[in-house]
Amino acid sequence: PELGDIIKSHLKSYADFPHSGILFRDFSPLLASGEPFAKLIAGLADHYRGEINAVAGLESRGFILSAPLAVALEIPMIMVRKAGKLPGDILRESYDLEYGSASIEVQPDTVAGLDKILVIDDLLATGGTAEASVKLLEKAGGKVVEILVLMELQALHGKDVLGDIPYHALLEL
Ligand code: IMP
Repeated sequence: PELGDIIKSHLKSYADFPHSGILFRDFSPLLASGEPFAKLIAGLADHYRGEINAVAGLESRGFILSAPLAVALEIPMIMVRKAGKLPGDILRESYDLEYGSASIEVQPDTVAGLDKILVIDDLLATGGTAEASVKLLEKAGGKVVEILVLMELQALHGKDVLGDIPYHALLEL
């Protein structure tokens, strides 16, 4: 089956989580599915083999996707983490949220010289997290070739903020 169909059939939506008015999309059923999750990762590995030389996961659900893909392709995985979690030499990028702001960090020595990075996360909403991640990885000396998300909330037009970077969503909601 199409990879988007695998996600669609293993998705749960929760009204008013974590705040009232939000319809939260949860991919926990996919993780619990065994074979369909394995098929998704294998499908992504087939698609990206030879095209990328690193995969950057966005904390925390992006890690769940980036680690098995990095293992399947035997390429480096980069952790893009929320502020304050990574030790040592770090770079930070801040971005605006609906209320307030957020910061993400990376260890630049995990990025240097990687020129075909795939950025991966579970979901694109406003696009702020993905956009900031690309800026951060480029500041750290990397080059992002694509942003991949399992799901995109189309009504929020997040892909418009991503500019020229190739972007793909497996399932549009
Ligand atoms: P953005 O920065 O507004 O695009 O928000 C994307 C980030 O928020 C991603 O890291 C997602 O994991 C998280 N997120 C926002 N809404 C949802 C949702 O409905 N389900 C799961 N994650 C979400």
